Amino acid sequence: MIKIVCPHCLQINRIPLRESYTKANCGNCKSSLLDTKPRDVNYTSFTKHIQNSDIPVIVDFWAQWCGPCRMMAPAFESAALKLGLKTRFLKVNTEENQTIAGQFSIKGIPTIIAFKDGKEIDKVSGALSENQIINWIRKFI
Ligand SMILES: [Zn+2]
Repeated sequence: MIKIVCPHCLQINRIPLRESYTKANCGNCKSSLLDTKPRDVNYTSFTKHIQNSDIPVIVDFWAQWCGPCRMMAPAFESAALKLGLKTRFLKVNTEENQTIAGQFSIKGIPTIIAFKDGKEIDKVSGALSENQIINWIRKFI
């Protein structure tokens, strides 16, 4: 079994580890856990995800004024959909969440950080293509 956090209601769910899933719903809100579109998080939801996920959590630190961030957004979203439940993709708006940005010493954006078991395991800065994002994540899954 693996622990994953429901992207809709933040309930911690335990589901069997499979190569792929056809259906998996949250035990609490009944929404699909297979909805892997990147989620915007605040301090509370960010912390809940990184501390309670058995899968790597991939976090894009961005801001509205940052052109390269906006350019990378579709690639990030598409990578999230392709990787499915092997990872959880989140987005942190650094303007609205300066505490998280400060905690992980974000110097420039976009920056993507991979977390495993609540800890930062790798970090990459600058806009990446979908393939570059997926290849970078393949090291952790
Ligand atoms: Zn839920």
